[in-house]
Amino acid sequence: MLEKCAEAGLRMTSQRVLIANTLEQSLDHPDADEVYRRSHAIDSTISIATIYRTLGIFERAGLIQKVTVGDGRSHYEIARDDHEHLVDIENGQIHEFQSEKLQSLLTNIADEMGFELTGHKLEVYGKKHGNVACRCIQIKVY
Ligand SMILES: [Zn+2]
Repeated sequence: MLEKCAEAGLRMTSQRVLIANTLEQSLDHPDADEVYRRSHAIDSTISIATIYRTLGIFERAGLIQKVTVGDGRSHYEIARDDHEHLVDIENGQIHEFQSEKLQSLLTNIADEMGFELTGHKLEVYGKKHGNVACRCIQIKVY
């Protein structure tokens, strides 16, 4: 993450480094308040305004991405193009999954429209039915 910030030409203050590290070490998809809580525990001089400003800067630089999970808040994760999110509407858990079928479908759709696929954003919502074992990569609570 810090390398990518440097590549993006961002001026890295100690507080930006702290926020970048906080996001990198997060095993979930924290919202701004949670990023603030975790960063503030390490540097009590950091303000919520700095958190919002820095998240905006990181997002515009393409270093992090917003994840919406249906609770009306913006959650964040380090930008990765390698997985999708399926939100369990009953408990808010996010199941991260990969699908080659989906990837080729999206490539085909873009191709049929005369485009080369460069990215996509997809949110899938559902509730579990039956006793089928989940085959996601990882389950995260928000
Ligand atoms: Zn994710």
